[in-house]
Amino acid sequence: MATAATLPSSCSSTFQTLSHTFSLRLPLRLGGSSFHHLTSLAAFPRLAHSPLLARHPISASAERNGSSSDGEYDYDLFTIGAGSGGVRASRFASTLYGARAAICEMPFATVASDDLGGVGGTCVLRGCVPKKLLVYGSKYSHEFKESHGFGWTYEADPKHDWSSLIGDKNTELQRLVGIYKSILNNSGVTLIEGHGKIVDPHTVSVDGKVYTAKNILIAVGGRPSMPNIPGIEHVIDSDVALDLPSKPEKIAIVGGGYIALEFAGIFNGLKSEVHVFIRQNKVLRGFDEEVRDFIAEQMSLRGITFHTEQSPQAISKSSDGLLSLQTNKETIGGFTHVMFATGRRPNTKNLGLDEVGVRMDKHGAIVVDEYSRTSVDSIWAVGDVTDRANLTPVALMEGGAFAKTVFGGESTKPDYRAVPSAVFSQPPIGQVGLSEEQAIEEYGDVDVYTANFRPLRATLSGLPDRVLMKLIVCASTNKVVGVHMCGEDAPEIIQGIAIAVKAGLTKQDFDATIGIHPTSAEEFVTMRNATRKVRRSTTDEVESKDMPVSTAQYSSIVVALSEGNTLREQHFCSDCLVEIRQLVNLLLHSQPENFMNAVIRMKNYGSLHYKKVAIVCDKYKDFADVLFGSLSNLNTKQNARKRSMDVLKRRLEDFS
Ligand SMILES: Cc1cc2nc3c(=O)[nH]c(=O)nc-3n(C[C@H](O)[C@H](O)[C@H](O)COP(=O)(O)OP(=O)(O)OC[C@H]3O[C@@H](n4cnc5c(N)ncnc54)[C@H](O)[C@@H]3O)c2cc1C
Repeated sequence: MATAATLPSSCSSTFQTLSHTFSLRLPLRLGGSSFHHLTSLAAFPRLAHSPLLARHPISASAERNGSSSDGEYDYDLFTIGAGSGGVRASRFASTLYGARAAICEMPFATVASDDLGGVGGTCVLRGCVPKKLLVYGSKYSHEFKESHGFGWTYEADPKHDWSSLIGDKNTELQRLVGIYKSILNNSGVTLIEGHGKIVDPHTVSVDGKVYTAKNILIAVGGRPSMPNIPGIEHVIDSDVALDLPSKPEKIAIVGGGYIALEFAGIFNGLKSEVHVFIRQNKVLRGFDEEVRDFIAEQMSLRGITFHTEQSPQAISKSSDGLLSLQTNKETIGGFTHVMFATGRRPNTKNLGLDEVGVRMDKHGAIVVDEYSRTSVDSIWAVGDVTDRANLTPVALMEGGAFAKTVFGGESTKPDYRAVPSAVFSQPPIGQVGLSEEQAIEEYGDVDVYTANFRPLRATLSGLPDRVLMKLIVCASTNKVVGVHMCGEDAPEIIQGIAIAVKAGLTKQDFDATIGIHPTSAEEFVTMRNATRKVRRSTTDEVESKDMPVSTAQYSSIVVALSEGNTLREQHFCSDCLVEIRQLVNLLLHSQPENFMNAVIRMKNYGSLHYKKVAIVCDKYKDFADVLFGSLSNLNTKQNARKRSMDVLKRRLEDFS
């Protein structure tokens, strides 16, 4: 059992014990000095720059493992925070490796605060689980719409009862808290309720009671963070949004990340009027560019309004209780709720980290080495508090690797290659491996296979739903290095595909796999022709580095063509010129089918301007002629331009 002692005496004695222990420690090199090459580091840029990442190789203590056989500490492991990472690490340390483990966690609440949390952590109480339950609840409205195409009629529109959904969700959360507590209990992990604070490298105080441990694990996660602007007190965060007493009638969601999009989908599905404000010109920074365009378009088609390149300046509340959001561009009023999904910050305040010498980065995230060890040898950290890849399965992996390293005597680094992830937007996204942009950066020569199609279900439903699927292949090894999907069931499908990517399978392996018919997923094994082949060495014709053609850029080009019939350099940002050049490159170097694919892509992606795009694409010859004409305005070399024109003409003849 844990001993409760008074703070001062315990502190001083522990410091003595500590220096004694350190002097006895024999550095035992485990795992060698070579560090993982993290193929997917690009997906988690912070990992690549972690100052401790390439620091010291792990040195385990002289004892066989991290257990304290002589009982000089209350515990072998004391974990602060019973979320995904903390529970996994403590449970494994105890059940698999026989460590004497304790974990502290703050009392339960649906909305976290400095003193409230709950066993299960963010994922179970304020993240993945409640969010997904609300996604399920909100998806029905789309399905009701689809059902009309399949012969269903309703006497009246189905009604939704927000409070029963939230009530049932909360009952389920309570059940999960109970399950987590019994998991800890059955694993022999002592659960201590309260706020933990580190007192010294081997001592934690929980609401004034102190506990000593040979190893301390910090797994305190993160909390929503919001900018300090006028009126911020009127704003809700994701914790509150999951537990509102009533459904928003009209909501502004500030943020373009996955949490913002997921909530936009939830409220849109439940028939709120939803406006999303993003600082950049696209949602989901860091995701594949094509996916970014596609999801914004699909969500727009479902009725969500996006306000791009807008930063929030202030929120004001009028006498009728409604809120206005002022941005750098406009002020929109009439909101019943304004939600900020503007990032999360690690929960490192008031943990005693500075005092004990645990290093943090400028955002307050704990800096760890590849084994999750902090700058203090006996203190470790896993999960969101380290801000490496903030996902539940990653926190679980880090917790498990930590337990194995420290208590299993086997030095184990978490493996961040090909970590799959999902956005439970509507439609959802699943992805694993590299985006097209990251693959080009990493491998140079890349073949990209895409499919953008109307799924079978939409043929009868008549809804404008589409599916985007994308395989990114390293041209030199033929390995599939990235897979992306946006469309119904994408997360479920990508979980299976992730095994293939993790196993390093090649495009031939995908091709040799038999599809399941009729499914959307079968597209992944039937994409025969590359949509584009990006090569490191660009030709004379294309002076700029190949860039993926983004859907927005395609449609902006096409719209301009249909409106003005001429593309002039000054009409476009320099990025767009790159795109035009790349389109020409595609025409010059690809198979004829790929030109058709490009045209189809434009047709499919241009739905916001669908009619105009259709007009242009149906007369692709005209389009090409105009594009062709526009080339004369571009600053390409004379000869190259001439050759471009000739090849382009020949290509067009192939299709006429
Ligand atoms: C809205 C939302 C949706 C999400 N959806 C997904 C998803 O779909 N898929 C996915 O993989 N990830 C998702 N995540 C991320 C996922 O929830 C986190 O990556 C994961 O929970 C991190 O686990 P952790 O153990 O690091 O921290 P947490 O789960 O946050 O656990 C930390 C625990 O520490 C406790 N604590 C903090 N300070 C103290 C202290 N001083 N003393 C005692 N206890 C303390 C907290 O109360 C908390 O219970 C989502 C997150 C959010 C916010």
